[in-house]
Amino acid sequence: MNNLSHNSPIERGKVIAIDGPAGSGKSTTAKIVAERLGYTYLDTGAMYRALTYYALENKINPADEKELAEIAEQLPLEFRRKDSGNLVFLNGQDISSQIRTPEVTKNVSEISAHFLVRQAMVAKQKEFGKNGSIVAEGRDTTTVVFPDADLKIYMDASVKERAKRRLLDLSNMGIESDLSEQERDINRRDKFDSQREHSPLTIAEDAVVIDTTNLTIEKQVDRIVELFQAAG
Ligand code: C5P
Repeated sequence: MNNLSHNSPIERGKVIAIDGPAGSGKSTTAKIVAERLGYTYLDTGAMYRALTYYALENKINPADEKELAEIAEQLPLEFRRKDSGNLVFLNGQDISSQIRTPEVTKNVSEISAHFLVRQAMVAKQKEFGKNGSIVAEGRDTTTVVFPDADLKIYMDASVKERAKRRLLDLSNMGIESDLSEQERDINRRDKFDSQREHSPLTIAEDAVVIDTTNLTIEKQVDRIVELFQAAG
């Protein structure tokens, strides 16, 4: 007979949750931390972006909370890990670059602020992480989605630095912009995400704050892995 009887408790893997504003470095860092630990990476922002992309494509009013929540519940969304990165599929179609366009970025905060939309998304995110061994990142992963995470991180950086990073990301996607436009967009999104009524972006009491303004990605990753190992 197998040593693991069906009554043995299955050990749940650990959870690392990372929150922070746009451009704080959390996506890149979370992805690499997950790779290093052999964990799954969950980009919760990509889920809100995919919903926003769907809403724009199908001309759904961004203020229609009920309809958006119904769509969020059934959105056929899938993450696939490829050598080229973490890809996002909707209905079998790769929408990884479409969800990063300025048009989606402009509308995502309004759509993600709806209570019913968040309720649907958070349920999916909890389900995704129920067995642990996950690095999740977003705006409310430390406070609402995984309030019992084994390690909570809040990443931040100056607005100028974050705008520079966004500009570089866009330029790598072949999208032209300028620094002041990115600063304006980041300030607008920061304000919206941290002042909204439901699950605003805040620093969890037990989160470790990392200012990444002058840190390389490698240093950010090292710091989180060290904290994780120290936490046992
Ligand atoms: O992280 P990213 O910039 O891709 O997130 C896009 C937007 O999605 C954020 O500005 C925020 O409005 C929303 N979001 C959220 N809750 C999360 C993740 C993202 O409201 N957990």
